[in-house]
This record gives sequence, C-alpha cells and structure tokens, in this order.
Amino acid sequence: MNKKLICLDMDGTVYLGDHLFKGAKETFEYFKQNDISFVFLTNNSSHSLPFYVNKIKKMGIECNEDNFYSSIETTIRYLESRRIKNIYVLGVKTFKDELKKHFNVIEQYDEKNVPEVVLASFDTELIYDELKTACLYIQKGSEFIATNMDYRCPIEDGLYIPDCGGLCKWIEMCTDKKPLFLGKPEPTMIYQVMEKFGVSKEETMMVGDRYYTDIVAGINAGVDTVAVLSGETTLEQFKKADRQPTFIIESIKDLVSLLKK
Ligand SMILES: [Mg+2]
Repeated sequence: MNKKLICLDMDGTVYLGDHLFKGAKETFEYFKQNDISFVFLTNNSSHSLPFYVNKIKKMGIECNEDNFYSSIETTIRYLESRRIKNIYVLGVKTFKDELKKHFNVIEQYDEKNVPEVVLASFDTELIYDELKTACLYIQKGSEFIATNMDYRCPIEDGLYIPDCGGLCKWIEMCTDKKPLFLGKPEPTMIYQVMEKFGVSKEETMMVGDRYYTDIVAGINAGVDTVAVLSGETTLEQFKKADRQPTFIIESIKDLVSLLKK
C-alpha cells in the first residue's frame, strides 16, 4: 500500500488517558523509517497545539506542531474563507485567545451589536450567563456554528463528560436552530491537511476508533479508512454501519502489517 500521509485520531486510537497502546511506538518508528507523514486530527478545541506535542512526546513518540491539526485551525480557516468578522464564542480561554488574533470576539451581550456568528466548542469553562447570551444572539439572527459534533468526550474508567455536540443540544432546545458542525465527520479537516502535505486522496489514510466522527470523516473525504477496536466502537457496531470502513483491525499494533500489504 503506497500511503504517504496517515491521519490519526488520538484518544482510543493511539492511547487511552495517559496510557499508550501496545505497538504504537513501533508504528510511529515505521512511519519515520518509511517517510510516511502523520497528523493527529482532533475535534477537541479546548487544548492548544503545544499541549498535545507535550502529551505525545511524554509518551515517547517523536513529534512537533506540524503533526497536529485541530478543529481550532479548521474553524479559523473556515470563518476566514467566509470573511466573518464579529463572533460570540462559547469556549475555553486558550481557544478564545487564538480566535482573537483573527476575529473581533464579543465579550458581553449587547442587543444592538448582534455578531454574525455564535461559535460553540468544547467549553469546559462554561457558565450559564454565556449559554444564555449565545441563545439570545442566535434568536436575534446570529448564525450558529460549532467546532465539532461529538456529544461526549471519553475520560478514564469508561466514563464520559459533555462535549460540544452535547452543549449544542441544549442551545437547539432553546432556539430551535441546529448548528453547522465543522471538524470530523465533515471532510474539511482532511482536505485541509492533504493540501498542507501536498498528497492525494489515494496516498492518504484515516485511522480512528469512533465511527460517526473518524471513519465517516475519512469516507466523506474519499480516503481509505481504518477502524480500530481499541476505543469506543465494537466490531458489531462497525459491521452494522451503512458505509463500511475500508479495513477493521484490532488496534494500532496491526497497522504496520496492513501498510506492508
Ligand atoms: Mg477516539
């Protein structure tokens, strides 16, 4: 298989919590020896790139900021392409700070100053007043956009915390408006990284554990997909899906033998 770029999900695919999966290290060494680029694609907008570089390096995998692409980059590029200027953001401080470099981020409710867009994200610092402001602006005509559709985010011990998609449900119930989701499973993120690395669809592969974000993103982008069973989706669940992943493997340790085929 002649792949030049491997896009990977992180949680449930390469590690769980702080625990790297068996065979992951050897897989990344194989990428390096064979001149295969890799990029971690994450829908999580609550951490900056240095946070991820540090986390992955600590686990023993050599990487730099070019090996990561998050819904933060995807969102900024998307809003810029639409020439959006004024936004209201539900998101953590680091995400808002990044957006402030590109847009006018409105801080407080002002009914005379309705922003073009209300942007929702994985907001672990959310307070009720912000949720209320977002709902008021959307009812007054702001477009409702969200970084990612994940309802929940896995933490350790098989537990979950509410993610962006879950937060959007709350706003939907109040405003009767559904958001436009960016991030996986939209193919935008994969298109953007293929362009960045200068590779074709045929040379690209998407590896992930979650069907409705990782695998569907790959299918939507027209690239080969590899489903791993080390995360939240079981073999039975993958088999039931309408559009099947190209390959299903037990975990990342089986990726090298697949690439050698
Ligand atoms: Mg995952």
